[in-house]
Amino acid sequence: MQNVVIIGSGCAGLTAAIYAGRANLKPLVLEGHEPGGQLSLTTHVENFPGFPEGIMGPELIENMKRQAARFGAEFRSGAVTEVDVSQRPFTVTVNGEAILTKTLIVAAGASARLLGLKGEKELIGRGVSTCATCDGYFFRGKPIAVVGGGDSAMEEANFLSRYASKVYLIHRRNDFRASKIMIDRAKANPKIEFLVPYVVEEILSPQGLVNGVRLRNAETKESKEIELDGVFVAIGHNPNSTVFKGKLEMDVNGYLRAKHAGISNVPGVFIAGDVQDHRYRQAVTAAGSGCMAAIDAEKFLEEHKDA
Ligand code: NAP
Repeated sequence: MQNVVIIGSGCAGLTAAIYAGRANLKPLVLEGHEPGGQLSLTTHVENFPGFPEGIMGPELIENMKRQAARFGAEFRSGAVTEVDVSQRPFTVTVNGEAILTKTLIVAAGASARLLGLKGEKELIGRGVSTCATCDGYFFRGKPIAVVGGGDSAMEEANFLSRYASKVYLIHRRNDFRASKIMIDRAKANPKIEFLVPYVVEEILSPQGLVNGVRLRNAETKESKEIELDGVFVAIGHNPNSTVFKGKLEMDVNGYLRAKHAGISNVPGVFIAGDVQDHRYRQAVTAAGSGCMAAIDAEKFLEEHKDA
């Protein structure tokens, strides 16, 4: 029987593990299908406090993991396939093994949607990015593209225009999902050029670094290539909450809903990080919510000592 099982090993899960470990709870961290979470897919992180020169995403994650292990956290690889939170202790199934736990912290994160193009995943950190706030600064004075037609794409295009010499906004349809005010703002920005309706056929990277894209017009079917240094994919995120459908409260997009802070609708289940946050989605906010979830789990165990 575990005191605390933490689902997810990104910033939120590892911070929860550090706090739960220091509370002598011997947390068990289930690493999930993307160990280390989204930070392990980025390169240089410059906005995490405490690193004036920045730090590589994978190194930051590795440091957090070592820190959690130092306080007694244990790690198990594999993704959770089933959960039962209908009664305590809760049951979490991973690699076919059922684990019993008194409390559960869900920090399963969200995965940025990718276009599904050949080589796209390997180019993350080499010109392809899913996070303008994280990577925009690296494209100072360079032409880039943002792909997508929702609010995120508009917001990222505007944000990136501070750095980039030019921002191509590439969207597959003539109509946008984004709100009018966001579209108008992007259209009024002289650095942003809309390319619609265009589908990205290929991300060009002859030397292993992005240097262009090949586009196909969705109506005329004509192809064209443009030179650029970065492709920001802003086509939405999927919270990793599928196993909790019908078990924990979530919004229409699958983001878990807290009753208060990181306290879920099921007593003893706490939620942290991007699986419950589609607004901030930052490493530092994920870490903060992981800390809160661990403190709440510790309090819960204290209050239910005799249960
Ligand atoms: P979204 O609204 O779901 O939009 C995703 C966009 O990506 C759509 O335009 C979609 O095209 C496109 N897309 C999806 N899959 C694609 C693919 N495989 N290839 C090419 N294009 C693809 O996602 P979001 O923009 O991330 O926004 C998510 C939520 O957060 C929304 O509710 C949004 O309002 C909110 N948000 C709000 C703000 C703000 O208010 N400041 C900022 C950011 C996000 P189609 O339209 O053709 O399907």
